[in-house]
Amino acid sequence: MKRILVHYSEIGIKGGNRRFFEKKLVENIKNFTGAKVERKRGRIILKDVKAKEIPKLRKIAGISSFSIAEEVALTMPSLAKAVAAVAKKSPAKTFRITASRSNKQFKHTSPELNRLLGGVVWKATKKKVELHNPELEIFVEIADKAYVYSEKQQSVGGLPVGTAGRLVCLLSGGIDSPVAAYRMMSRGCRIIFVHFHNYDPFMDKIRKLVSHLSEYQGKSKVYFVPFKEVQQKIIKGTMKEGGEYRMLLYRRLMMKMAEQIAKREHALGLVTGDSVAQVASQTLQNLNVVYEPVKLPILSPLIGTHKQDIIRTAEEIGTYKTSIVPYTDCCSVLVGKHPATRAELKVVKKIERRLKIDALVKKALKKAEIEKI
Ligand code: ATP
Ligand code: MG
Repeated sequence: MKRILVHYSEIGIKGGNRRFFEKKLVENIKNFTGAKVERKRGRIILKDVKAKEIPKLRKIAGISSFSIAEEVALTMPSLAKAVAAVAKKSPAKTFRITASRSNKQFKHTSPELNRLLGGVVWKATKKKVELHNPELEIFVEIADKAYVYSEKQQSVGGLPVGTAGRLVCLLSGGIDSPVAAYRMMSRGCRIIFVHFHNYDPFMDKIRKLVSHLSEYQGKSKVYFVPFKEVQQKIIKGTMKEGGEYRMLLYRRLMMKMAEQIAKREHALGLVTGDSVAQVASQTLQNLNVVYEPVKLPILSPLIGTHKQDIIRTAEEIGTYKTSIVPYTDCCSVLVGKHPATRAELKVVKKIERRLKIDALVKKALKKAEIEKI
């Protein structure tokens, strides 16, 4: 009988809290795949999973890997039959058996099982035992029943979505912020998105990005906040200084608005796609200015990650192709060729006082449109 065996790694090192994490993982697996789920002896076993639902298991945070396994009775003859069947199907010339036994009542220890079942495979196929780097590794797990399998499919790892609280992610249409959101989901956080826009045509791009990300957490709430009026006021009000400080003013306002949304949503922090020194607004001096107006913790999980690694993750999670479709982010409107890279907080605050922007911010937030994607 085919079963799917789900393995987790980080949940396994949780002490007294482990049950809480396991329970949430089971709930998420049921919601994502419709599978029947059994939790026994630290193992999660799925029954009746439709073939088309199996790939979804690759996108469930908390699962480190999963395997399609044969479930057999706890007897040596049925184990021998199962391992021989797996070995015969494989063209590999070398193999090893890797047994583990959580049910200590079973009469053979793991090393004994490795030896005995290794003998069975050798007799049936003449494949050679190779402990380091075998072409075929046959796993045998002894629990209430026995499970035999040879392949592991990788998943997200980390902790189940919904175990760590909520965050509001400032989502642009670029490569970085979707990856940042994914990183926080894989730490167990549920993400609410906010996007600031001044052109409608690009909202479809954002919807597409969110729909990719929702594969990891289920439906997501997105706030689309109109930024045009706020931005025009900033542009008009900084004619004297030129474009130099505009990017920082935009970004500070985005932070403030996102914080308001976070409070409304009972979220415990903000997420951005910032990475130190990647672009002019992300020098340490400027990040000090951009993050300054907000009290909530600002989490930037990519802060020390290189662009190439961010791109690789974007490709893996399926957001890259959408991210590189050309668009104009409102952050880059009329910001001057050389935005300030060593901004002085004093100057920026002085401009803000002069602009009296609070009323416009309130208005923009009132006009925000909320979608579930
Ligand atoms: P990204 O690839 O995420 O766009 P970036 O390298 O282009 O990042 P910036 O454009 O300076 O850098 O943006 C830095 C961060 O500010 C983004 O990662 C995102 O969190 C936030 N941000 C920028 N523009 C917007 C926007 N229009 N709406 C929401 N958040 C935004
Ligand atoms: Mg960007």
